Amino acid sequence: MDLNTITEVVRQPGERPGADWREGDAWLAGGTWLFSTEQPDLRRPIELTALGWDSLVPDGTGPENGATCTVRELYAFAPPDEWTAGGLLAASCEAFLSSFKVWSAATVGGNICMSLPAGPMITMAVALEAEYELWHPEGPPRRLDALDFVTGDHRNVLAHPGRTCAASASRSAP
Ligand SMILES: Cc1cc2nc3c(=O)[nH]c(=O)nc-3n(C[C@H](O)[C@H](O)[C@H](O)COP(=O)(O)OP(=O)(O)OC[C@H]3O[C@@H](n4cnc5c(N)ncnc54)[C@H](O)[C@@H]3O)c2cc1C
Repeated sequence: MDLNTITEVVRQPGERPGADWREGDAWLAGGTWLFSTEQPDLRRPIELTALGWDSLVPDGTGPENGATCTVRELYAFAPPDEWTAGGLLAASCEAFLSSFKVWSAATVGGNICMSLPAGPMITMAVALEAEYELWHPEGPPRRLDALDFVTGDHRNVLAHPGRTCAASASRSAP
């Protein structure tokens, strides 16, 4: 969809994303929702993918997902055999009802922050008892249980539009 209200695009946010937040700003992740419908209030998308967060880091204690990890990357990930709930990662991607084009761009963080009732990444994170790391430009990152993030249909604890962005989700070995 053509968005004809855009005046600028922030392609490389600073080290504290959101510090120069202004009216009309919005985080841009995969853009599969942001670019799919009218956004009359949007003036300045701020690209989160430019922050270069790791997509998926499986360390000794479990997986950590950067918010900008795409659904396709998550689907391609082969969890270690000892992760008894590892199959849930791919099953959650398959519950994402869209084409491969959307899968290739849509991000885990974008899906969670959209907070739609059919958000498969939300269900996955809650089922795995994940924690989210939330970044605010004026304070240290804070952690929050996935269960407490979504508060309603298309609503969550982030102000909308808001300067806080979700950076990662992690948990101990599923
Ligand atoms: C054909 C089609 C099918 C779809 N099917 C589904 C489905 O089955 N289930 C479903 O839930 N959704 C679905 N969607 C909606 C949408 O594509 C997904 O929710 C997707 O995961 C959004 O991720 P994104 O990275 O593209 O987010 P974007 O479009 O980039 O952003 C979505 C919203 O989240 C905000 N945002 C993104 N990342 C962050 C972050 N890290 N921190 C704070 N805010 C952030 C953005 O500012 C924006 O408001 C579908 C869309 C299409 C076009």
